[in-house]
Amino acid sequence: MLKLKDASLLKTNNYINGTWHAGSAGTIDVFNPANGELITKVADASAEDTELAVEAAAAAFATWSKTTAKHRSDLMRNWFNLVLENAEDLGAIMTAEQGKPLAEAIGEIKYAASFIEYYAEECKRVMGSTIPTIAVNRRLQTYKQPVGVVGCITPWNFPAAMITRKSGPALAAGCTVVIKPDAATPLSAFALCELAHRAGIPPGVINVVAASDSQAVGLVLTQHPKIGKFTFTGSTAIGKLLMAQCASTVKKISLELGGNAPFIVFDDAHIDDAVTHCVATKFRNCGQTCVCTNRIFVQESIAEEFTAKLQTAISALKVADGFEPGAIMGPLINTRAVEKMDNFIADAKSKGVKVLLGGDRHELGQCFYQPTLLTNISDDMRLAKEEIFGPIAAVQTFKTEDEVVARANDTNYGLAAYFFTRDIGRVMRVSENLQYGIVCSNSGVFSTEVAPFGGWKQSGIGSEGGKEGIADFYVTKFHSIGGIDS
Ligand code: NAP
Repeated sequence: MLKLKDASLLKTNNYINGTWHAGSAGTIDVFNPANGELITKVADASAEDTELAVEAAAAAFATWSKTTAKHRSDLMRNWFNLVLENAEDLGAIMTAEQGKPLAEAIGEIKYAASFIEYYAEECKRVMGSTIPTIAVNRRLQTYKQPVGVVGCITPWNFPAAMITRKSGPALAAGCTVVIKPDAATPLSAFALCELAHRAGIPPGVINVVAASDSQAVGLVLTQHPKIGKFTFTGSTAIGKLLMAQCASTVKKISLELGGNAPFIVFDDAHIDDAVTHCVATKFRNCGQTCVCTNRIFVQESIAEEFTAKLQTAISALKVADGFEPGAIMGPLINTRAVEKMDNFIADAKSKGVKVLLGGDRHELGQCFYQPTLLTNISDDMRLAKEEIFGPIAAVQTFKTEDEVVARANDTNYGLAAYFFTRDIGRVMRVSENLQYGIVCSNSGVFSTEVAPFGGWKQSGIGSEGGKEGIADFYVTKFHSIGGIDS
């Protein structure tokens, strides 16, 4: 039984036009991945429910888009304050439905809130321009207008932050949103709506529909003529599909897709620092983040020392139910994710991998997996090429800078890359040569609301965060003014 200080944050219906709607497709069971228990049932939205939400968002857009930036900013500031005041409850809801340790979940809530605050401030500074005229009786100017209703689809791995990273800039720009969270984690989305409601954000400005038939809802959000922009965070495969669906109405699109992050350790690196950050980037959220370290490359001369220290650090990770004090790694999201880990290990074992730690399911429950460390990786192993999305660390070695940069870039993905070196020339060279939207040197920590987050190649289109993160929610209109007497 989930205990909250404010039990009214546990909402189970869809939020459409400022009211809570039962789903016309029945209900969805929401489980706790740590123990397999049913937390609650939530409303299952149909395509028709989604259309209702789009109509509500379109009606609200007519008034919300005409409000001042200051007005929207004030309401968003209320929302931000309420999210922070309720961070513990929101964290508990997230731990229950997603599995990540409570401290990590509360950390995500604060990160999620930061996008609301940042864009509440940023929208007051979005400017148009005056262009030197080309004729004495004309004046040329540009100004920004909100793009319209925004359709959003978000994943389960960051059930709160992926919602505010989209709805924060959208609302600030004057857009309204219809969000489909993942069916595994709708409760965090509903709780955020409840707080937006209390903050005074008007009916129809934010709408959330949870659905078991994501394809049907996805078709509405990508093809409805009243939606001006579509934004998605999730896998590259589904991103491609949704991008194709958006073509029929030529929607503006932003895609935050999968990753295959290299973590490169050069022989002049501070090895202890590299180990600490490697563990953090690999095992955070049980290895289920788009920017998780996926391929670890260590220069040959330090490989033995680095791997031994990594083994010690991984052995110290406390695997537990996310509500247990001191838990560092919780369960995977579901049993399909566990089977995926089994398959990676079976494939790697058949090709000669060496297992230093783990490599099997964890006794704690059906969604738990042992923190795993592997060496003897070869290029033909699936885990050397695919996004692992789980707690498997696989160490490979390299000889030279040119070689490792080429291997790091040898992927269709291009989201985040990490490297460790104390040579300032190499810091600049490697940063410039890595084909990734985010490069992080001598640290594994980079996420912040004030900087752009986005992928290169098949990791996505556009950026979220920073001033770039709001730009796509506007249309830049050029106004050519004639008939001016000189
Ligand atoms: P996913 O399978 O692509 O699902 C993401 C969202 O799309 C969920 O809400 C899902 O709903 C929905 N969906 C699935 N099929 C759909 C369809 N045919 N039409 C419409 N919606 C559909 O991804 P995931 O496995 O949940 O999430 C992990 C992936 O997201 C990883 O690849 C990760 O790298 C990526 N990710 C990227 C970023 C970034 O910022 N670049 C951030 C976080 C995660 P249901 O599951 O309810 O069907």
